[in-house]
Amino acid sequence: MAVIPIANIGIMSFCILAFSHIYEITREQSEKKLLKLAQTDPLTGLANRVRLTDVFERENRRSLRQGTPLTVMILDLDHFKSVNDRFGHGMGDKALQHVSRILQKSLRRTDLAARLGGEEFVLLLTETSEKQAKAAAKKIRETIESSPLMHSGETIRLTVSGGIAEYGAHGDSLQALIRQADKCLYHAKQTGRNQIIHIEDAPDTSPACS
Ligand code: GH3
Ligand code: MG
Ligand code: MG
Repeated sequence: MAVIPIANIGIMSFCILAFSHIYEITREQSEKKLLKLAQTDPLTGLANRVRLTDVFERENRRSLRQGTPLTVMILDLDHFKSVNDRFGHGMGDKALQHVSRILQKSLRRTDLAARLGGEEFVLLLTETSEKQAKAAAKKIRETIESSPLMHSGETIRLTVSGGIAEYGAHGDSLQALIRQADKCLYHAKQTGRNQIIHIEDAPDTSPACS
């Protein structure tokens, strides 16, 4: 007689366990999705500033531990306002997505491409010295220059200017490195655009960009 209630209790316990397991998996998946959304730029799918900051913190600790170089590169599309003005904001958005794809394809899996906002991007290059970053910058700059977008039979040429700063030599925080790289970007804009420039001198001698 006691067999049926015991079986019922067994079945009920099994159901409760199964449902709580399913609930836990679904909750974890939703949490992961939310976290990814919070760290992603919606237009380009690149990392946003939140993720960039997170990854920088991790990578600068690794860099200190292993003595490997870490480089920050800032990029800004040249005369982007005129792309919007001539071809419309929608085409401007497509151009941002196009450049983002190029950046992602150009980088190694261990690097990170982030969109800071507008037409400005930051690349975090792990195990990469300033010198090596210059070679990567050249490849990226040339790829963007040689990959125009087509729109109703018209060619939309895109170029990019940028600046490079190395962790340690030019700053110990993401903010400081971006500030230094930004000085070089400014210099690149002032001296003709379509170039990515790095800091030549030591930081304590008021760095010059070249
Ligand atoms: P410079 O070579 O000096 O960088 O010139 P620029 O025209 O690229 O720079 P400016 O700061 O004058 O203009 C940036 C433009 O980027 C203006 C703004 O409308 C456009 N922009 C910013 N965010 C977006 C976006 O999400 N989508 C589109 N389509 N345009 C954007
Ligand atoms: Mg800009
Ligand atoms: Mg610009």
